[in-house]
Amino acid sequence: MTEQLKPMPEDWRRALAVVAHPDDLEYGCAAAIAQWTDGGREVAYLLASRGEAGIDTIAPAECAPLREREQRASAAVVGVGAVDFLDHKDGVIEYGLGLRRDIAAAIRRHRPELVITLNHRQTWGHGEAWNTPDHVAVGCATLDAVADAGNRWIFPELTEQGLEPWNGVRWVAVAGSDRPTHAVDAAPGFERAVRSLLEHRAYIEALTDEEPETYVRDFLTTTTSMASEHFGGRPAVAFEVFSR
Ligand SMILES: [Zn+2]
Repeated sequence: MTEQLKPMPEDWRRALAVVAHPDDLEYGCAAAIAQWTDGGREVAYLLASRGEAGIDTIAPAECAPLREREQRASAAVVGVGAVDFLDHKDGVIEYGLGLRRDIAAAIRRHRPELVITLNHRQTWGHGEAWNTPDHVAVGCATLDAVADAGNRWIFPELTEQGLEPWNGVRWVAVAGSDRPTHAVDAAPGFERAVRSLLEHRAYIEALTDEEPETYVRDFLTTTTSMASEHFGGRPAVAFEVFSR
């Protein structure tokens, strides 16, 4: 990848970010989201699960409300107030019609022009690390649900519930992709991205012995600088953008 990443499209008002777990957006693209909400755009989050299987030392029944609280707090840091959770089970989220229907319903409700999701391919980077099946399922279902949301005949029960088709999604932006095409300057939103990820404190404290802020700052500095040589030397959040 030697070519330069293009700036993200800016002629939109509403975005919906759809991911599998609490923290997926904070590890990936909160700096971009902070900048978008600063500019007066509306961003909503949809999480397929509550991440209840994410902390080895806390059982799911106790973990789910804790992680939901952390996710709402981390969204608020970057100007996102609308955070919805589907009740798919963390770790065993299945790609299928139910997941597509749930995501299509949310797209019809929020009517975004931009949909954001996380790496839907089976590996991270250039094949160095295996992705989780939850990310693959939710990423693929999100890419598919964008078309489902626009077609009144695919899930007619949604129309019966008053959710009219929405065919206004113009782009799906995949964070964490190994084939990025576009990027957002990460500098203006960087400090809020740090605070946003830090809100997942219980998760991070269980994950690492490092001081949480040091861990978060190092992680986000590394990931945003990876794209910088392809974005005029600026730290960046990179996306693979599928146009419609
Ligand atoms: Zn995840």
